[in-house]
Amino acid sequence: MEAANHYYYTTRDPLGAAGDFTTAPEISQMFGEMVGAALADCWTRAGKPAAAIYVELGPGRGTLASDALRVMRANGFEGGVHFIETSPVLRGAQLERQADAEWHETLLTIPEDRPMLLVANEFFDALPVRQFIGGIERRVALTPAGLAFDRDGDVIEDSPVRDEIAREIGAQLDGRGGVAIVIDYGHARTAPGETLQAVRGHEFAPLLHNPGEQDLTAHVDFEALATKAAVGDVKVTRLVTQGEWLNRLGIGVRAAALADASPERATELAAAVRRLTGKDEMGELFKVIAIHSAAWPVPAGFE
Ligand code: SAH
Repeated sequence: MEAANHYYYTTRDPLGAAGDFTTAPEISQMFGEMVGAALADCWTRAGKPAAAIYVELGPGRGTLASDALRVMRANGFEGGVHFIETSPVLRGAQLERQADAEWHETLLTIPEDRPMLLVANEFFDALPVRQFIGGIERRVALTPAGLAFDRDGDVIEDSPVRDEIAREIGAQLDGRGGVAIVIDYGHARTAPGETLQAVRGHEFAPLLHNPGEQDLTAHVDFEALATKAAVGDVKVTRLVTQGEWLNRLGIGVRAAALADASPERATELAAAVRRLTGKDEMGELFKVIAIHSAAWPVPAGFE
């Protein structure tokens, strides 16, 4: 999964109608604006520390950052922008939208001592998972017929890579202060079951077909993420659904304001709100959790 996704993201921009999948920030500007409003509000209540920086994990095309930072800048945030991104193709797309950003391979090289406002949308789901069957790790074998799993049965998944990044976010927040908002699809409790999936051209595809040519993701185990991120005095909020979170932050008010300004967009805006918040769309499967240092307030939408 690690090797296939590395090749996949290194060689293409997979987002949007012409690609393999569409993410929330690519559906509507309102998604990034809600993230920006939540971060700007949290930063304001933390006393507007001038040293604070914006950090995003896996920023895709940079769309979320552009929409969030527009709101944050309008609220007085002047801090630097730091992107953790391994794909040269997507770094190129991000450069077009945020020319003043700095790029990093991991969180370890972002400037020291600065409080961070971190966002990760659909980042953790792309990180590799392991699968175990009866306590034995499932492997992928190369057979004369192609790639095949070496065993079948009831699957239990875990992800040391995700665990390590969640722990690093917690450690960084404990040391430098700040807040992280993580949005992804997944489940609230650690549970057995197979969630690995492949998507190509907006359709599910067989897992082992075309390695490196289709998007491999697995549900995020938010219980594991929350446990790992709770480093030192860091606090982790409750988990809320994306629909509940966006509604609490006021996506309906924002949609009405945009529709007032551009009545010809009213139908499109209503459809975007439905896609982002609807229970049978992204509203319930996608979930949001925040991690914050002890001195920083709980961000809006999690109370
Ligand atoms: N957040 C964006 C893109 C999601 S796709 C959006 O919501 O539209 C996943 C993103 O994570 C891509 O930018 C991909 O290149 C990046 N990514 C995947 N694995 C990564 C890794 N190990 N380190 C850094 N970035 C990674």
